[in-house]
Amino acid sequence: MPSICCYPVLSTCRLNFSQTSVNRWAGGAVLEFAALHVPAGPGERGAMYFDVIIMGAGAAGMMCAAQAGRRGRRVLLIDHAEKLAERIRISGGGRCNFTNRTVSADHYLSQNPHFCRSALARFTPNDFIALLEKRRISYHEREQGQLFCDDSAEDIIAMLRDACDEAGVQWAMPCAVQGIEARSAGSARGAFAVDSTQGRFSAESLVVATGGLAIPKIGATPFGYRLAEQFGLPVVPPRPALVPLALAPELLEPLKPMAGTTLDASARFADAAFRENVLMTHRGLSGPAILQISSYWQMQEYGSGKKRPLEIDLLPGIDAAAWLDAHRQGRSHLPNVLAEYLPRRFAHEWCALYGGDKALSRPIGELGRRDLEQIARQLNAWSLMPAGTLGFAKAEVTLGGVSTAALSSKTMAARDVPGLYFIGEVVDVTGWLGGYNFQWAWSSGWVAGQFA
Ligand SMILES: Cc1cc2nc3c(=O)[nH]c(=O)nc-3n(C[C@H](O)[C@H](O)[C@H](O)COP(=O)(O)OP(=O)(O)OC[C@H]3O[C@@H](n4cnc5c(N)ncnc54)[C@H](O)[C@@H]3O)c2cc1C
Repeated sequence: MPSICCYPVLSTCRLNFSQTSVNRWAGGAVLEFAALHVPAGPGERGAMYFDVIIMGAGAAGMMCAAQAGRRGRRVLLIDHAEKLAERIRISGGGRCNFTNRTVSADHYLSQNPHFCRSALARFTPNDFIALLEKRRISYHEREQGQLFCDDSAEDIIAMLRDACDEAGVQWAMPCAVQGIEARSAGSARGAFAVDSTQGRFSAESLVVATGGLAIPKIGATPFGYRLAEQFGLPVVPPRPALVPLALAPELLEPLKPMAGTTLDASARFADAAFRENVLMTHRGLSGPAILQISSYWQMQEYGSGKKRPLEIDLLPGIDAAAWLDAHRQGRSHLPNVLAEYLPRRFAHEWCALYGGDKALSRPIGELGRRDLEQIARQLNAWSLMPAGTLGFAKAEVTLGGVSTAALSSKTMAARDVPGLYFIGEVVDVTGWLGGYNFQWAWSSGWVAGQFA
């Protein structure tokens, strides 16, 4: 007897199945998918049989589907969303920062930082760029190797969708999965059966590409984590990452007059440092340097120790002590001197906070040496303890996910569950800001597409 394990309802969907799925795409256009073509196969009665079922038609899922389809696999792509690939559409301000010229494993956080190497080496940024060039999608490079579409993220969605269609991929969308059955490997009826609002499907391989938890209002769900846990695979607890940081009221109150100012600063935590903009907000800290460091600050959650503050170097590349010392001879006041590098409003409020009335009213030369040393220390290492983050609602990605310890880095398959694959953000691999997360989705999706 094949072993059968049943999974409970994992997601819900407002729309009911009809053989012709109606889907609302970008721009409000309503397209109709052709009726699901039911391939002939060894499947059970009443179930539509495929070689591969992919859950999640986002970046990783579509890449994987197109690849598996090109190998001649009969592929079904299931997504509960009404709009295809919403996350690609809104990314990069609508232009999708689709990769980065400098991708390496050093740009990713994971309990196993080496896991991503193999996939990133087999499907590289140049491989993705080649797909764009073949399709004549124009793009441009911004600072730090970030690549964006010239026109619209829609170009990438259309490219992936067409690649899936050309590879014969079938779509079930919007479609909610109500339960999954796993049978013993090699079952003539397929190793997996999926009960959904569009009927019962079975397949030899099941690829989970349901993404992380960031921005729940565009369809993020914990589906992938729950499924992994129910198959006995470990999950590194998901945490918001690339996310603004909140400050406690007592710390925030005196900083409120600085809200709205932007600094060219370096945010540091542990061994990581990012020199980019820091934005002072009404709730705490944001801007690219803070989003980047937030992922490292969040990694503390996985340790057992006491939480540590982060540091902001307000004068990156400048030895503040020597610099202030050089100003001791003149009659300049500290806020005016700091305003050479920092926004004037910020410099004034910061001096009032850390230098007191003296720092505002007296020239630098009249401030005590010890006071100046203390101010200099804070300038180069302003220590701030966040109270937390603004959560998944404001996060760009999810830290943690399905543990890489349970997966093969060569195939993205679960080591102990034949035919089950995890790709993209649902896996415990989290990239920096700057196109690294999409590259992980393309690379891991491409790799699984060669094996599923
Ligand atoms: C606002 C924003 C901007 C971003 N900008 C960038 C950027 O410019 N560059 C970059 O590299 N990264 C960016 N990212 C991160 C990037 O979008 C993700 O890392 C990437 O989309 C992950 O790809 P994925 O395929 O794993 O998941 P997703 O693209 O999130 O796709 C997951 C799919 O699974 C579906 N799904 C989820 N649960 C279920 C379920 N229960 N049943 C059926 N279907 C389900 C979803 O509807 C979705 O279509 C951004 C993220 C956000 C939120």
